[in-house]
Amino acid sequence: MELWNPWHGCHKISAGCANCYMYRRDAEFGKDSSVVTKTASFDLPVRRGRDGEYKLQYDGTVFTCMTSDFFVAEADGWRGEAWSYIRQRSDLHFFIITKRIDRFYVSLPSDWGMGYENVTICSTCENQETADFRLPIMLDLPIRHMEIIHEPMLGRIDISKYLASRRFEGVTCGGESGPGARVCDYSWILFTREQCERFGTPFNFKQTGALFRKDGRLYRIPRHLQHSQAKKAGIDIP
Ligand code: SF4
Repeated sequence: MELWNPWHGCHKISAGCANCYMYRRDAEFGKDSSVVTKTASFDLPVRRGRDGEYKLQYDGTVFTCMTSDFFVAEADGWRGEAWSYIRQRSDLHFFIITKRIDRFYVSLPSDWGMGYENVTICSTCENQETADFRLPIMLDLPIRHMEIIHEPMLGRIDISKYLASRRFEGVTCGGESGPGARVCDYSWILFTREQCERFGTPFNFKQTGALFRKDGRLYRIPRHLQHSQAKKAGIDIP
């Protein structure tokens, strides 16, 4: 998996942020996660080696801005440049996960049009409230490739009216990891899967989280088994 983190730091804005992984990691090093700064990797996609070739050569997806939110306000002045790198690297596919889809237009390049072909934007919706706020906004936006992620999934979420648009190319579900993780119930995962099946949307059960409930019984799943246990369920829809 290739990562590009052009900036670091963020602010908690909704229930899903409570146990933010980036905040937890930074706390281990005494770092203040609420300070948003450009990273040393800011121009990573367009860096070239001595041979003139791009240093970043990859034939998969580049997960972008995983230690911040691409649309966080402090990055408004930097985002235009980041978009220009993305446009230059049309040979790469950039996957951007956000909780701030309502800020999509801020610093959007003038040549965006109906969206760059090499960008997927994925909206995090951890509960019904965030789904009902973020997904209608998203459906009004010019984005070529869009997905939904329920992670950490904090409840049963009905997204059927959004999936009916047939614009979403995938839905991913996952529980919460780390100390203080909140419960993820298997019936919520299956409910989302049912909706995806109904509308022909690919579905991915990514990981169980640390506290997983199935048929009313609560399981504590160690970190190293959370992904494999989800895959064992065998419920993904390609
Ligand atoms: S939006 Fe993402 S990166 Fe920002 S605080 Fe919330 S979980 Fe952390």
